[in-house]
Amino acid sequence: MPDKTRILILGGTGDARMLAEGLVAAGHEVITSLAGVTEHPVLPPGEIRQGGFGGASGLRTYLQSAGIALVIDATHPFAARMSAHAADACRSLNLPLLRFERPQWQPRAGDRWTFVASTEDAARALPSGARVLLTIGRQEVAPFFARPDLSGVARMIEAPPAEPPEKWTILRQRPPFETGAEMALMALTGITHLVTKNSGGSSTQGKLEAARKLSLPVVMIERPVKPPVLSFRTDEDLFTAVERALSP
Ligand code: NAP
Repeated sequence: MPDKTRILILGGTGDARMLAEGLVAAGHEVITSLAGVTEHPVLPPGEIRQGGFGGASGLRTYLQSAGIALVIDATHPFAARMSAHAADACRSLNLPLLRFERPQWQPRAGDRWTFVASTEDAARALPSGARVLLTIGRQEVAPFFARPDLSGVARMIEAPPAEPPEKWTILRQRPPFETGAEMALMALTGITHLVTKNSGGSSTQGKLEAARKLSLPVVMIERPVKPPVLSFRTDEDLFTAVERALSP
């Protein structure tokens, strides 16, 4: 029989760390799963496992062998494959699956946002000669680096997969980023456009406020669609749902 309180958190975000802290403090046995792509991840309390499961079927096998009673999908809003696999595997095993989803950023008065559906569309949306602050991580920079008329600063936690073109500077930094520092960075490096995913959350929101204050255009990449599962926007609501789901 599975341990009734054994919880798997699909992590890789600050939200997942916060959830692990709360659930461990409440006495649950928590395993956080990381994709294993970050060199020095900030680790949450509880048990850690790293690396892919091998698709939905590999995840199903893992859930059974590890005796997991409940899964929390706290992956990044753009990690669509992991969320789809979690939905498949949990449905087939009839396991409860709860998602933590931070609200999207919404434009405010003074914002100059263009919405696009993908990183490729974001690269196409930039005018010739734009100097870009590119804040989409390291994995999808290729369409921007492939345009010889673009230049700028690409910010990421880990080094990029390939050497960037000469006109680009790589800035390796981890959030949080404050509005004042973001304004200084944009001014100092002559940025004309900001490119971002609609990740939501407060730790990287400063760039949006900075762009508004400097009246800079923003190319906003919209979230991919994830399978519909029970979703929560606050840790309190999610913790209540966990207790309900695990109560006999
Ligand atoms: P993805 O496209 O949805 O996932 C690709 C594959 O990576 C999955 O099929 C799975 O491999 C493995 N994987 C992803 N998350 C995992 C986890 N928590 N534990 C174990 N395996 C995992 O995801 P991604 O966009 O590459 O993101 C990878 C990780 O970085 C995620 O944890 C995500 O939360 C985090 N992250 C992503 C972004 C972003 O913009 N995409 C931003 C910040 C953080 P298998 O099929 O072999 O199981």
